[in-house]
Amino acid sequence: MLRVTTITIILLSVQMLFAQKTIEETLEDTYRPVKKNLRIKVEDTLGNNGFLPVSIVKGKKEGPTFTIVAGVHGFEYPPIIATQQLMQEINIDSLNGTLVFIPIASRGSFYNRTPFKNPEDGVNLNGAFPGNKDGSITQRTASIITKHIIPVSDVFLDIHCGDAPEDLLPFICYYNNKSKPEQTQRAKELSETSGFQYVVSYPYTISHEEPAKYMFKQAVQDGKTALSIESGKLGNVQEEAVVLIKKGVYNMLVEMKMYGKRVEPTKAPIRLNDQVYIKSNKQGIFYSSYNAGDTVQKGAIVGHATDEFGVLIEEYKASKTGIILYMLATPPINKGDTVMCLSSFNPENE
Ligand SMILES: [Zn+2]
Repeated sequence: MLRVTTITIILLSVQMLFAQKTIEETLEDTYRPVKKNLRIKVEDTLGNNGFLPVSIVKGKKEGPTFTIVAGVHGFEYPPIIATQQLMQEINIDSLNGTLVFIPIASRGSFYNRTPFKNPEDGVNLNGAFPGNKDGSITQRTASIITKHIIPVSDVFLDIHCGDAPEDLLPFICYYNNKSKPEQTQRAKELSETSGFQYVVSYPYTISHEEPAKYMFKQAVQDGKTALSIESGKLGNVQEEAVVLIKKGVYNMLVEMKMYGKRVEPTKAPIRLNDQVYIKSNKQGIFYSSYNAGDTVQKGAIVGHATDEFGVLIEEYKASKTGIILYMLATPPINKGDTVMCLSSFNPENE
């Protein structure tokens, strides 16, 4: 027993030493190959104590730094499980460059099993960027990522899926930032090589001073090549969603010449770049016979809501013809909720 206790104390001390090392120190250290798991302390004045888990994997040879983040929303499990598997599978001796993993960005949301917001402070991490180093735990987490993770990344990938109430068609996306054509082009190339069938681009219209709010938009604002994957839905771990995420990451690492494990030849992707959002004006009980991936015609009734007594209070109409990228798929609906995101391709948006 004594021996076990002594070993435990030594292990704990080693862990604490690693925890005290900064992200930058670990990256600047020239020794490789090496893997370091850091727990970056995050505390706030509300009494929340936690840490941001950061795993830095430096491959045998030098090369780019590719950052992979999961669990910005802690109820989105396929991205979290895919990242766990990637961290186990990647062979450090075959890796060129460095992978930076944040396996669960919002531990508060994950361990409390809450979609969207971290209940510790009521803040949605994917809305908190660039963050605030003196704010609440989620705002401080955003600040650490903005100051210490985004700047060291050549490529920044944020992995999401449909949150607890959302059905979703798997896709990969980037911002069409015309002020940074080189980074935008690279994001497009990486998206198209990922193996995801649907490649979505969003307009990028914010100025340099405006808060980016979303994590991968922050990376775009800071001049990085940044992407997001959406794969999985409805608070479950779908094995096929996990497989798609891993395939996407491996294919992009091949494209980056960082890792040589292409999963299968990529199919011609389908481009989408014109999204509209159907919103709810009422609180009630939601119904729809549609699923993510269905194509709807302009004017079609795609769902409705009733009050608590079953009386119809609102119908939702498709404002254009398009494919359902994601949609609400559970009964509660609130005023302002996104009922559906419909997308199509418009050559003028290129
Ligand atoms: Zn999300």
